[in-house]
Amino acid sequence: MCHDCFEHEIYRFASQNDFDLLETQLQQKLARCQLLVYPISAVRQPFEPESGYQCQTCRERWFLASPDKAWRGYLLTAPAAEAYVHQLRANDTYRRILALVLFLLLVGWLVWQGYY
Ligand SMILES: [Zn+2]
Repeated sequence: MCHDCFEHEIYRFASQNDFDLLETQLQQKLARCQLLVYPISAVRQPFEPESGYQCQTCRERWFLASPDKAWRGYLLTAPAAEAYVHQLRANDTYRRILALVLFLLLVGWLVWQGYY
């Protein structure tokens, strides 16, 4: 992290306006060659970034995920992005298991009540 790239990581964009401001800064830094596009896999898994950049001054790699409706996106350095994606996937798996357990409890309750 340095003045030529970004001085703070963003774990979620508070608003579309915040993201638009960041995107404007990003385009300016790309135009001035402070940042270069860092290639990432074209095949995206859930929560993975859409684009990567590398600072030409401090060599930090940055990963960007754009907000979309409830998803608030992020701009994180490589290690933070990797840990965050891992955490988001774990939370997602937990939510899916919880939903399945609630569904099975509901079905069990309906069977017990004689609806089936
Ligand atoms: Zn930098």
